[in-house]
Amino acid sequence: MQKLKELIRRHALMAGLIAVAIPLLAHLWLQYQSLSELESTLPIARRAYMRRYLSSVLDKVITNYEQKAEETLNVPATAFHHEYPNPAYMENAMNFEQISGHFSNHPFNGARLLFTAIITGEQVPNYAIVRFYNPASHSFHYKANKAEWSAAHAAAANWIAMTMTDSIPKTTQLTVDERDPKNRVIVKPIVDEKSRVVGVAGMFLNEEVFINDYLSQAIKESLPQGFPEEYQDVVVTVVDLKRDHKLVFANQPFQGQQYDVGWPIPFIFKDWFLGIRMRNMTEEQWSRRNFIVNLSVSALAALALIGGIVLALRAASRAMKLSQMKADFVSNVSHELRTPLASIRVFGEFLKLGRVKEPGKIREYGEYIETESRRLTQLINNILDFSKIESGQKTYHFEQTSVEHVVSDTLKTFEVILEQNGFTVNLERPSRPLPPVVIDPDAIAQAFINLLDNAVKYSGDSRQIEVKLAEQDDFATISVIDHGIGIASEEREKVFEKFYRVGNALVHDVKGSGLGLSIVKHIIEAHHGKVTVESELGRGSAFIIHLPVDASARVKPETRGSERLISHELKVSGETVN
Ligand code: ADP
Repeated sequence: MQKLKELIRRHALMAGLIAVAIPLLAHLWLQYQSLSELESTLPIARRAYMRRYLSSVLDKVITNYEQKAEETLNVPATAFHHEYPNPAYMENAMNFEQISGHFSNHPFNGARLLFTAIITGEQVPNYAIVRFYNPASHSFHYKANKAEWSAAHAAAANWIAMTMTDSIPKTTQLTVDERDPKNRVIVKPIVDEKSRVVGVAGMFLNEEVFINDYLSQAIKESLPQGFPEEYQDVVVTVVDLKRDHKLVFANQPFQGQQYDVGWPIPFIFKDWFLGIRMRNMTEEQWSRRNFIVNLSVSALAALALIGGIVLALRAASRAMKLSQMKADFVSNVSHELRTPLASIRVFGEFLKLGRVKEPGKIREYGEYIETESRRLTQLINNILDFSKIESGQKTYHFEQTSVEHVVSDTLKTFEVILEQNGFTVNLERPSRPLPPVVIDPDAIAQAFINLLDNAVKYSGDSRQIEVKLAEQDDFATISVIDHGIGIASEEREKVFEKFYRVGNALVHDVKGSGLGLSIVKHIIEAHHGKVTVESELGRGSAFIIHLPVDASARVKPETRGSERLISHELKVSGETVN
């Protein structure tokens, strides 16, 4: 029956576990599938995202740059004396004062050199004149070198040609001439109120300013938004496509390839390529890491869930076991109460009726009655103690005393029972007296009696019990040794649990409450000591109480004098049972 119950209990646990584990595993499997799919598509999506990020950075930089250039180059048309053929003297073809005023009112640090150009002369062919303006000195006194001269002329040529024909251009947007990478030029046709080209304004780009003040700045500002968690690992580079991918710029030091994906820069620096990559890993590695992290988190969550459920099921099964043990306890205790009471009544009646005359018999009956009452007292003491322990009301009254006295006094009161059952107890004392201990003598006597009682109950055919007193390290020890049925190793810890009784046939013949050892444990732990057991199945057991000898510091104040527990005297319904 017990086995069947155990089987059902175990199966309930397994069924509960399976009911949770199967859907969980299925969920994990599905997650694994979708995560692996994600792993293969993620690098593509990530690259697309990185490209979009770069394109938005470029958009911002170029729009900003273009707008500044436009403002600076938007010289008023009135500064150009346009007439064709233009009879004006060369130096008067443009109003340099007005142009200077405009340039200094619209400064642009991206331009290292500015210029304006116009056609002049009295007859065909006329002269195209280009005048350079130095933004650093705010003046037209600048002697351009040959490369600058030819770059400016080449860039302005188309627009200048248009001034001769009075034609209206389709667009007046900025145009770029980067034929000479060292002298990159942006030009703007200047149109009058009739939309005719009257002159040209242009600028030479400052490469460093473009990189440091525009590109690098925009990257620095936008990276934390674009890549909130890993912006420190993002490498953005600019390489020169025309010069064999020479590195022009990198936002941070890096090793290996220059970029993973990217865009050529539109509008200006068109021969440059803006690229991006992660510093420590490729997109595939990044995606793999994501996969592993996500799957591990899911697996851990599943494990935690299973663990929680196992704990809950175990707690439930323990609660079931405890309630079963409580039920057994009630039936055991009623039996234990009824048997001695029945004997006491029968022997009492015999004596009352005066049927027994023989003095020896009378003494024997009297002894029976005494023994059985002691057993009852012991049982009731245990039950009362247990209920106090459970409700946290058990108190102790510590005093300095000798363990030997407590043990020998207790043995004396136990003598009759032992003798009746044919037991011999051998008390072994240490060669030198044990140091005094600070204990509650009644409580220790109670614990000792419980151990002795067990030694008697579980001795089987053996009739020999040893009680040993000794000093071990800083502990005084009391060992109660029997040569009885012993305890299996897997049960040795459990026997100290409340209501626990070993469930084998040998023990079943012996009645008990399952409280004795749990009370012993509680009492000894309250003394800052411990109780241990050594046992061999079929050979006997040794229960050892360890009490600290150097306990003067551990004296506890008396908390509730009225609740003093007296081991052999207690009141039940106003009557004193002794
Ligand atoms: P009980 O009233 O059942 O004796 P205890 O708490 O004193 O309760 O003991 C718990 C269980 O430990 C007992 O039911 C018995 O199975 C086992 N046990 C205790 N002492 C001994 C011993 N000396 N030898 C063998 N088994 C013991």
